[in-house]
Amino acid sequence: MESGILNADTVVQWIERAAEVIEENEKTLTELDAAIGDSDHGANMARGFSAVRGKLAEFPRDDIGAILKMVGMTLLSTVGGASGPLYGTLFLEAAKISAGKPEIDRVVILQSLAAGLAGIQKRGKAEPLDKTMVDALGPAIRAFEGAEGVSLAEALAQAAEAARLGAEATIPLVARKGRASYLGERSAGHQDPGATSMWLLLQSLAEAGAE
Ligand code: ADP
Ligand code: MG
Repeated sequence: MESGILNADTVVQWIERAAEVIEENEKTLTELDAAIGDSDHGANMARGFSAVRGKLAEFPRDDIGAILKMVGMTLLSTVGGASGPLYGTLFLEAAKISAGKPEIDRVVILQSLAAGLAGIQKRGKAEPLDKTMVDALGPAIRAFEGAEGVSLAEALAQAAEAARLGAEATIPLVARKGRASYLGERSAGHQDPGATSMWLLLQSLAEAGAE
């Protein structure tokens, strides 16, 4: 990926890696959701990405938009909970930007991530610091945009690191959206499950981009 572009093969590798990482971390996501939700985030995400993985092998690799659309539709219909429609929206909005493209450069990657975040916020109405997945994706996008003068692989790594820090920074926050908000002040002191799964997805993207 020296070229500074992502091609459809790399996008497929990203999603395959994401499916593995979600599976490896299913228990962690479940435990995080047990503390401030209903203990289903690990199972929700694992179910969704397992369904995606089943479809990927046979899927054509000439159109990144078509791949991302398939991922979004599959997550929308299999993940459930609050996070399913939101992750579905992320991939469907990103898919619109990369429709018909066999490879995407940095500008299109940034536009895709930004469109995904805008879709999540339009649908879920979460603002930064509401203790949601937005708190991992938002900082990641800012880091990616600000990573000038470095390779695409390094920019993706910086985005993933910002997502990790963003997810960690949800620990002291009081949840203002989703199930965790029912706990009020008692939601503080726990890392948000959705911010954590968002970090895992961005970490997988950085790993695929580094190969
Ligand atoms: P549910 O809360 O319905 O059980 P999940 O457990 O799968 O669904 O997902 C919970 C995660 O979804 C939360 O940790 C949070 O990151 C995210 N989430 C919930 N509501 C919103 C929202 N309105 N906007 C953004 N993210 C949200
Ligand atoms: Mg839940």
